[in-house]
Amino acid sequence: MRTTTGIDPGPVMARPAGATAVDGFSVPGFDAVARLAARSLGVPLVSLVLNDGSAYWFTGGSGVPAHDPRPLHPLYLEMAHRLTAQVVLDTRHDERFRDVVLHPEAASAPVRFFASEPVFTLTGQQIGALCVMDAAPREELREAERAALRDAAALAGAGVVLRGYLGRTDPVTQLPHRNAFFEDLRAHLDGMPDVWVIAIDVAPVQRFNAFVRAMGHVYSDELLRAVAGRTQGWLPPDAHLYQVGAARFAAVLPGRHGQIDTARLDELVAQLRQPFDCLGIPLTLQPGVGLLKVAAAELRGGDPLRLVMSASHAAQQSVRGWAVYDRAQDERHRQEFFLVTELAAALTERTELDLYYQPRVDLDDGRCTGLEALARWQHPTLGLISPGHFIGLAERAGLMRALTQWALDHGLAQLAAWRRAGHDVALSLNVSSTDLGADLVSRLRSAGERHGVALDALELEFTEGTLMEHSETTRHHLEAIRQLGAGIAIDDFGTGYSNLAALRQMPATSLKIDQSFVRGMGASEHDAAIVRSVAELAHNLGFRVVVEGVETAHIYRNVLEMACDEAQGFHIARPLPAAEVPRWLAERPVLPTRRG
Ligand code: C2E
Ligand code: CA
Ligand code: CA
Repeated sequence: MRTTTGIDPGPVMARPAGATAVDGFSVPGFDAVARLAARSLGVPLVSLVLNDGSAYWFTGGSGVPAHDPRPLHPLYLEMAHRLTAQVVLDTRHDERFRDVVLHPEAASAPVRFFASEPVFTLTGQQIGALCVMDAAPREELREAERAALRDAAALAGAGVVLRGYLGRTDPVTQLPHRNAFFEDLRAHLDGMPDVWVIAIDVAPVQRFNAFVRAMGHVYSDELLRAVAGRTQGWLPPDAHLYQVGAARFAAVLPGRHGQIDTARLDELVAQLRQPFDCLGIPLTLQPGVGLLKVAAAELRGGDPLRLVMSASHAAQQSVRGWAVYDRAQDERHRQEFFLVTELAAALTERTELDLYYQPRVDLDDGRCTGLEALARWQHPTLGLISPGHFIGLAERAGLMRALTQWALDHGLAQLAAWRRAGHDVALSLNVSSTDLGADLVSRLRSAGERHGVALDALELEFTEGTLMEHSETTRHHLEAIRQLGAGIAIDDFGTGYSNLAALRQMPATSLKIDQSFVRGMGASEHDAAIVRSVAELAHNLGFRVVVEGVETAHIYRNVLEMACDEAQGFHIARPLPAAEVPRWLAERPVLPTRRG
């Protein structure tokens, strides 16, 4: 005989409101497990108490009320949280049992013998305890009896897990699972053109995992229950909450197929952003609430849960804390995710990535002073992906360090080969702000040694923004790089708002005027004036001035008249594959220079 007992929200464990939807579920096999325990230990009463507060009772025959109105004694909840077996041979010697009666039998019979064994899921999560009780005290609990109780507890754990699959409920929150969510969604869409679906992310996955690592499962379980409780309090009474991920809930908003009430959503976010008191530890979460309008037609073959989760994920980073699914943004994220994995693979296999080299010439005598290495990614199906696209991606995905290391090795190997072949050229490498740390110096030094090239043939290009970002420490690192002999260029100058005097504090050797001004020179007098005055100032401050983006003969002639030292651009040469560089060096067209 078995009943489930509804329990008042006690001080130890608050039961999420509305969990009544799943109260009807039993624990498969519990009767058999309990009978086994009752027989092996010779007790009249067995109980499975889960740490969410639900309890299942088995009595060896005496009448059990279908619903026991009394709240479960807190002692049972305490036992449900114990990680080890508890044995109390005679409760008379144990204060905690003072007013515990044989439950749910006649109130007059006190519990005199009590033993419990923790119940775990298959993954080792503690979810409650199996308790055996008797009205008579014991002298001892024999090893065979202890073993029987352990076996029964293990079987009970399997039963609870099984219930999770069958009834699709989560053992921790007792909320129904993803499959039940879809059934509910389908039912709502029956006869309705569309419905709103809501997803709630408790916290960013990494943060939540870090929390579990630091605090343990007892705390995270409690936290999940608390979040579920607040969310259920917010939901309309006829809506059910589902647990659709480790730290993620979802619900179908009944009857809300028109507009969504934004003020109500703000309210939910505000509630979830209030600190949670998790077993005495206040915790502030970073929740994300996502919304999606699902039409009946989209159910077939679609994945509404993934879509609404993409919205809740995006919402975590937003000020508002909630977001309606945005197809374009989702598409961008998917693309980005795909590209990041592909880029990571390209970086380890190193066959799709290549460096092209764009020459830079001296405006005095036309000699090629150096070549700028520019990364190229030839993707097998997407074709050529421009660095403008994948550099930012690498930056966001934490792949920049690997990319720079690859460019450094690849570029220096090529430079060494050209130098051995008698080409007296230098190499410029683009370096991003994430590279500008203390170890860049040692990485440079060892790469130089590995490839046998003196580092005075190398120049690193940092954007103006990077250089102005960190000032003092940056200057320190840059000075160390200069000590190695390598040059430093300020790239894309004019796109930031730094003044030249501030940049003068940086130990840079050259300054590259951004191509946006240079390319505009042909059409705009204004741009020409900017390039002229910047070049003059930079030159006077001691920088070698390089103009980028020299696309036409007209612009080339113009910069020849200015205080510029070098030029780079399509008019001189496009970025070239390494194999074409020696021929270009030997056969390049003659350009006018200051010396004729
Ligand atoms: P950047 O450093 O300013 O490089 C110059 C860009 O302008 C190159 O684009 C080059 O192909 C293009 N360019 C050169 N001359 C002309 C011209 O006359 N007209 C026009 N319209 N464009 C010209 P690319 O190769 O697409 O590279 C874009 C940016 O990606 C680079 O801008 C650089 O910031 C970044 N990048 C490229 N390779 C690497 C790399 O290995 N590491 C890092 N950190 N960044 C890189
Ligand atoms: Ca550059
Ligand atoms: Ca540039």
